[in-house]
Amino acid sequence: MRLDEDIKNIKGIGDKTAQQFNRLGIYNVKDLIYYYPRAYKTYSEPVSVVDTNEGDRVAVFCKVVSYVDVHKGRRYTITSLSAADSTGSIRMVWFNMPFLRSKFHKGETYIFYGTVKYSGNMRVMEMPEYFTQFTYQKALSTMQPIYPLKSGITNNSITRSVSAVMDTIKALPEYLPEDVIQQNDLMPRSDALIQMHFPDNEETLKKALSRIAFDEFLEFLIKIRQLKEDTVKQENLYKINDEALAKKDGFIAGLPFSLTQGQSDAVKDICSDMSSEHVMNRLIQGDVGSGKTVVAVIALLMNAISGYQGALMVPTEVLAVQHYEDICKMLKPYKLTVRLLTGSMTLKEKREVYQELKEGICDIVIGTHAIIQDSTDFKSLGLVITDEQHRFGVKQREKLTEKGNFPHVLVMSATPIPRTLAIILYADMDISVIKDMPSNRKKIMNCVVGTEYRPNAYNFIRKQVAEGHQAYVICPMVEDSEAVEAENVINYSDELSEKLGRDIRVAYLHGKMKEDEKKDILHRFINKEIDVLVSTTVIEVGINNPNATVMMIENAERFGLAQLHQLRGRVGRGDAQSYAVFINVKKSEASMERLKVLEDSNDGFFIASEDLRLRGPGDFFGIRQSGDMNFRIADIYNHSDMLRLAQDVSLKYNDLIVI
Ligand code: ADP
Ligand code: MG
Repeated sequence: MRLDEDIKNIKGIGDKTAQQFNRLGIYNVKDLIYYYPRAYKTYSEPVSVVDTNEGDRVAVFCKVVSYVDVHKGRRYTITSLSAADSTGSIRMVWFNMPFLRSKFHKGETYIFYGTVKYSGNMRVMEMPEYFTQFTYQKALSTMQPIYPLKSGITNNSITRSVSAVMDTIKALPEYLPEDVIQQNDLMPRSDALIQMHFPDNEETLKKALSRIAFDEFLEFLIKIRQLKEDTVKQENLYKINDEALAKKDGFIAGLPFSLTQGQSDAVKDICSDMSSEHVMNRLIQGDVGSGKTVVAVIALLMNAISGYQGALMVPTEVLAVQHYEDICKMLKPYKLTVRLLTGSMTLKEKREVYQELKEGICDIVIGTHAIIQDSTDFKSLGLVITDEQHRFGVKQREKLTEKGNFPHVLVMSATPIPRTLAIILYADMDISVIKDMPSNRKKIMNCVVGTEYRPNAYNFIRKQVAEGHQAYVICPMVEDSEAVEAENVINYSDELSEKLGRDIRVAYLHGKMKEDEKKDILHRFINKEIDVLVSTTVIEVGINNPNATVMMIENAERFGLAQLHQLRGRVGRGDAQSYAVFINVKKSEASMERLKVLEDSNDGFFIASEDLRLRGPGDFFGIRQSGDMNFRIADIYNHSDMLRLAQDVSLKYNDLIVI
């Protein structure tokens, strides 16, 4: 089959299934091949019943010690039996599978595989898979793909469809020269794609991941190079006048704080770029809380008073609103026209902004990708800034640049990338790093605790609120379902509200809420009308409420360390002492060690490198990091060797096309 062939032409996919695939973003054969599993199912050696704990997903080797019982419950027909090994017994339960009655007989041995639960003091496995010793031996050596799913589609359906295009994958040509493959021991392209879906074993999977990471990096670097060729030598059509800035009554002097060394260096770099012969293309890299926003505002201001328009693009509406309000306040004395542009505004509101941008009335626009919609047209766009850019792909960055006639570009990122790698990944840009934190900051105090500590944590929150501060609570994460996640947040916040008492105002925030509701909640939180905000990770990017002093994170063990660091960065933004409480629900040794890193360090670089070092075997995809620059597989830390190799290859062969 051709790669661009519609998935409807794949054997076994009809109109209805095709629609379900479309919802996952799979339209043609290529999309399907690139739809990688999020994990693999592997089986492990059986353990003794006595060693199993609630929540463990394990295999037990047991003898059936009772007759099979089938009875009708209220909602299901329940089939169950007791099984035991020499150390203890465990009840196996299946719903709506009465035919199993004739499958099992007292005295036979099986391997049961499933999740252990406690019912009273009895161990139970619901819906276990079962194997004979022989079939289990076979299962032990396989790895089956588990795909990310959305309602409607089954894992089986994806597995079957990928199998159906196997011949197409096998026939994919290799685009890399043979000696590159040989010298670097790379897995050939089509083998790697097959292994991604159906790995033979962990070793081949690792090699496949490396190869796919290499391809992703190479494709990215080729694009970056084109971008660089297009922009770097562009003439600067928007030379700025920065005289007003340094004056005694200028903007910087009027700030309630003095800039850190890193901030002033960044401002200096920007000024020199924007007044030079060539257009600016600069990355500002600084850890969360280092004060990147004010640097952006200074750039926007200089650009505006020099007579050009500026745009600030951020990844979420909530953040757009917050930046908009802060910036309006900061720039009030300058009588500039600042506008907000987001997807949830009415068409009429948007049209007004479009009109003002076109006529040059609007000096500064702040918004989400609504800014890069086709209908936005600027009169004289001189500066484009993207905040937390890892959320935007290169494409969006490009599109925003195309809006004007080669405006200055400034990108702000909190992703802690070592300089050597940053130079490769941002080959098209100059880089300024803000290394230092504002000096008024007190070090965040961290503690990693178990669930039994919850009452203390709640008490602590109550005390902080009594002192006039506020708190965030990040709710347990639920995989793959926004709906369940929303429900979770609501329940948690109800319970918390009950526990904290009536005088403490609790509210919740999650991704499924309407934009207006989100905005409203955030407003009220920032205006101190809400004391405790229970939220999913939607607050992770950029929200700033310096009065919040407690960040409590449930199920901390389920997040990547870099993401926890971003979350923690929501507190410690003001003068007051702040606290981060990480609740470690599954107190395994590994999770303890990982979280300990956060307890010991507030340094984003160190945390990112430790995260990598501590990843366990079998943790092929890591825990999805937030700053992943939109690569599907490639991870700049884990695959840094591939990034360097891709860089070398792209320099040596300049006509490669990644397929
Ligand atoms: P980030 O780099 O994470 O985007 P922000 O720009 O949101 O950080 O800044 C975080 C907080 O620090 C804001 O409340 C901001 O007003 C404050 N801030 C920024 N620079 C300084 C400084 N030099 N001294 C004191 N506070 C500062
Ligand atoms: Mg920020």
